[in-house]
Amino acid sequence: MTYLALYRAWRPQSFADVTGQQHVTRTLQNALLQQKFSHAYLFSGPRGIGKTSIAKIFAKAINCKQEPLNEPCNECPSCRSITSGELLDVTEIDAASNRGVDEIRDLRDQVKYAPTEVDYKIYIIDEVHMLTNEAFNALLKTLEEPPKHVIFILATTEPHKLPLTIISRCQRFDLQRINHEDIVARLRFICDELNFEYEPAALELIASTAEGGLRDALSLLDQVLAFGDNRVIQEHVMQVTGSVNDKVLCDLMEQVADRNIPAALSVYDQAIRDGKDPKQFVKDLLYFCRDLLLVLLTPDISEVNQRGLLKKGFAEVAGKYSDQELMTMLEQVAKTDYEIKYINQPRVVVELLLIQMCRRDVARRDSDTMLEGLRKQVAQLEERIAKGVPVATQQVKDANRPKLSAGSQGSVQKDKLIEISKGNNIKVFDKIKGHWDEILEHVKREKVTLHAWLINGQPVAVYQTYIVIAFQNAIHRETSDQSANRQIVENVIQKMTAGKPFQIMNILMSEWNEAIAGTKDVSDEKNQENDSVKQAIEMFGEEFVVIKD
Ligand SMILES: [Zn+2]
Repeated sequence: MTYLALYRAWRPQSFADVTGQQHVTRTLQNALLQQKFSHAYLFSGPRGIGKTSIAKIFAKAINCKQEPLNEPCNECPSCRSITSGELLDVTEIDAASNRGVDEIRDLRDQVKYAPTEVDYKIYIIDEVHMLTNEAFNALLKTLEEPPKHVIFILATTEPHKLPLTIISRCQRFDLQRINHEDIVARLRFICDELNFEYEPAALELIASTAEGGLRDALSLLDQVLAFGDNRVIQEHVMQVTGSVNDKVLCDLMEQVADRNIPAALSVYDQAIRDGKDPKQFVKDLLYFCRDLLLVLLTPDISEVNQRGLLKKGFAEVAGKYSDQELMTMLEQVAKTDYEIKYINQPRVVVELLLIQMCRRDVARRDSDTMLEGLRKQVAQLEERIAKGVPVATQQVKDANRPKLSAGSQGSVQKDKLIEISKGNNIKVFDKIKGHWDEILEHVKREKVTLHAWLINGQPVAVYQTYIVIAFQNAIHRETSDQSANRQIVENVIQKMTAGKPFQIMNILMSEWNEAIAGTKDVSDEKNQENDSVKQAIEMFGEEFVVIKD
């Protein structure tokens, strides 16, 4: 006995057996109940999701005389001969191998004759987009004046390649990829029926790899069964597909969490030396990151529980990330997964991806400071425009170029800083400055890392209850400014000043220097403005310059 591939042996024979696609089968079954049929149907959608299976079930049900109307009985002579492909009135044509006008002309000649054994002649044309233009024209002529007893069912993975004149004459159905749970359920059903031993995780992995295609899932199940004498275990699925196992990915994501670039690269290197394919590696990493995010956001949902994600150390790894981090990384991995198909050096691209993932904060901070720089420049420009000062092209260019050292969120307005520098409480300030090393020492005892950030700054003023600390570097300022860190410094100072509560104001040294310069310049500002007006008049002529206060 020759072996029949699973996807053939388990091809659905009734609408009830079809996995997914209820939006299509329900409509077709209604048409059957009312016995009202179109002359042409178009089924479009990805490969291996049931287009031709549904077409054949529909063809059988149309010609079946038995009850119920909305399913084929699969028992009568008509049903049985359609299933076996022996009924001449129901013809399957593969347009990929019969592309020419001759085949379609033959078809045009044939459709004239009434069916011999059943009520309707039915033509199922698979991959119909492969037909030549001449063949399309011949088909169109038939569709324009179809004989009453003929029904066409066209199937295609690429509906956009069909002429609109054809599409407009068909009742169209878009079939969808089959969802993960439905594929797993079908695999489980078949394994149970055939008494195959299986690990649930193995079926999950097959379904993930098949990406919504049931035929691919069943072919893969076939290969796995052949590989491991009729047992379906995860290890075998991974060997057949070249997948990377969760243990490796867990290791990898732990190293990424620790921002340990050499260790992350070495996990990857080992996987490649074990014969894994970089492209498959990225695909597996994509699903792994998705699972981490699922565990983090919705640990209670059934998918997480069913797949035993919580057991395998997933939760522990997931807990090392914020949801925002995981989402950003998911985007990066998805982008690489897409691009890697077109790249000759996939291995290097994956290494780059891993480095980016390890350096995620650096990238974010850079873009944050850039944004903040831009924001400041725009504000300055708006101020100038509001004053009616013309903005020269060169200045616009400079404004577009972000200053990397510019301040960041939470910085203090310039006006406020000018006020502070004028009202500096010199007496208290001298005391704080005199004891600054001591304060740093106490902070170090509380939290070593904060001390490392804080030594980048120095006190520059005391104003009312504020102690102003100016930093050379935006990252140091930002980290020291986190409320928990600010609290530590404030507590230390409160202890040392015998209970007097101060608040810390963390700013950038560049902002402070600007503010000090500002106090000197205030009196000159009016003159500068007059100069600007003079320049503007020179550039544009007097009638174009309006001075607004
Ligand atoms: Zn029947």
